[in-house]
Amino acid sequence: MANKTALFAGSFNPFTLGHLRIVERGLAIADCVVVGVGYNINKPVPGNLESRLDQIRKAVEPLNKPSEGKSVLVKEYGGLTADFARRIGADFLLRGIRSVGDFEYERNLADVNLKVLGIDTVILCAEPEYSYLSSSVVRELDANGFDTSHLLP
Ligand code: ADP
Repeated sequence: MANKTALFAGSFNPFTLGHLRIVERGLAIADCVVVGVGYNINKPVPGNLESRLDQIRKAVEPLNKPSEGKSVLVKEYGGLTADFARRIGADFLLRGIRSVGDFEYERNLADVNLKVLGIDTVILCAEPEYSYLSSSVVRELDANGFDTSHLLP
């Protein structure tokens, strides 16, 4: 079977344990998962891109297992996710959902990416222990002085 590459794209501001689990589970269905750190115009959030990339590279490092043919790459990109997917030769997009609200959003995105841009999306459901966890919750807790280290890789 040919090697499969999945693109897991998002803002990851910050990259949480929920995101990490999607990468880990994605490696069961792809040989290479590319974490694409992009800019979502619907969620314009400030933040230092370089430090986010560093944080993600450290977090996914233990998942790189070349001897088992599994690898994780972290790349930044701008523009359309589907264009980036084509540039890196991704076979499909990988996304996660936590709720019905996420599902509606992700299904719409998946429809557009398939019908207009020709790339399919594999959607994994969050595990119950992470279904409440979002980057915005972490930012909110951070901003109010709460320790969020147990929510991050
Ligand atoms: P975007 O800004 O593109 O929505 P995010 O960084 O918010 O990107 O999330 C990237 C992807 O990860 C999305 O598909 C989102 O639904 C999913 N995701 C976020 N948090 C979790 C979680 N706790 N469990 C599973 N999937 C998640």
